[in-house]
Amino acid sequence: MALYVEKYGGTSVGSVERINAVARKVSAEVADGHQVVVVVSAMSGETNRLLALANEINDHPPARELDVLVSTGEQVTIALLCMAFDAQGMCARSYTGAQANIRTDEVHGRARIVDIQGDAMQADLDKGRVVVVAGFQGIDENNNITTLGRGGSDTTAVALAAALKADECRIYTDVDGVYTTDPRIVPEARRLDQVSFEEMLELASLGAKVLQIRSVEFASKYAVPLRVLSSFEAGKGTLITSEENIVEQPIISGITYNRDEAKVTVRGVPDTPGIAHRILGVISDQHINVDMIIQNISEEGLTDFTFTVPSADMAKSIKVLQPLVKELNAHEVVADDDLAKISVVGIGMRSHEGIATTMFKALSEKGINIQMISTSEIKISVTIRKEFTELAVRTLHAAFELEK
Ligand code: ASP
Ligand code: MG
Repeated sequence: MALYVEKYGGTSVGSVERINAVARKVSAEVADGHQVVVVVSAMSGETNRLLALANEINDHPPARELDVLVSTGEQVTIALLCMAFDAQGMCARSYTGAQANIRTDEVHGRARIVDIQGDAMQADLDKGRVVVVAGFQGIDENNNITTLGRGGSDTTAVALAAALKADECRIYTDVDGVYTTDPRIVPEARRLDQVSFEEMLELASLGAKVLQIRSVEFASKYAVPLRVLSSFEAGKGTLITSEENIVEQPIISGITYNRDEAKVTVRGVPDTPGIAHRILGVISDQHINVDMIIQNISEEGLTDFTFTVPSADMAKSIKVLQPLVKELNAHEVVADDDLAKISVVGIGMRSHEGIATTMFKALSEKGINIQMISTSEIKISVTIRKEFTELAVRTLHAAFELEK
């Protein structure tokens, strides 16, 4: 007998038929002797519909009320799913975030889970009931409803799996696993059987949108084995687990791309202590995330300072840098969002040389110019012109023979 936490995303519960199908599948697992906690998202499109409704009434809806509103999407699904279980003769009980005792901090719209008391749920499981929990929501210290950010049901599922010491957390979605790259760009892309938490964090943050990043961080911290599977077809999916559990580690696991990056350059800044701090300080004061950073060799005491930010934050970045440019007597601030970031990710990089060389050679043979480079222990990223995104991804997928 095993305890599974299974999360079904919006498309997997997007219709009455889909909800019935989830109930049938879970009932069969319970009949096999397993205990199952089901975490559900809102039916597909529902969260967006609610957000649009809020914005029709108020351009800046109060964050507390927005959470009260959007959390209803998941509440509809838990009730309907439990009704489906009942119709199939299976005993199930629904839990809102509050009823499941999912305690969060008070940051509306992107709250973090701080504690879960699983006793009531465990008691239901021990009575042979299916426990159905609303994803994406919790309550803060003062019993206000909070939500965990878009895609937050993944994090609910992992947190529950950690709290209940589940054998596995299974994320059922509309893709059948994590791929070596985006199959829309490279049809030969392969589903990975296994990938490490660390690699998945890179893949997720670099644009593989299968899982909410926080859910992977959570799984990694509490060593919760996490499996991504299709809710539409049978298969093993991709297991995300600790590095030591991975047999046959490939050198490179995946190639990712992100077209939503912009580069900002402050030209002609004095090359003196404190400059990086001041430039990046005004950016981080705006809660803008900086990714790559490059400072050139200085000439006559002046240098260019370049960094990347999400494209959506480019205009704001320029605006907050203008006064600083004046103050520092720098030349100007320029920005460019005709940019894509392409990354090669793999834990095997730690023990293999020549990955960067292979990458740069492959790109140069296609005449793709590299603008910026950054590396970590398990990742090499480059920025290139946006129009070369597909070509670069295909070229690198082939260069590292990821189709094999
Ligand atoms: N319903 C929420 C969203 O659409 C949470 C989730 O589905 O994970 O982002
Ligand atoms: Mg999702």
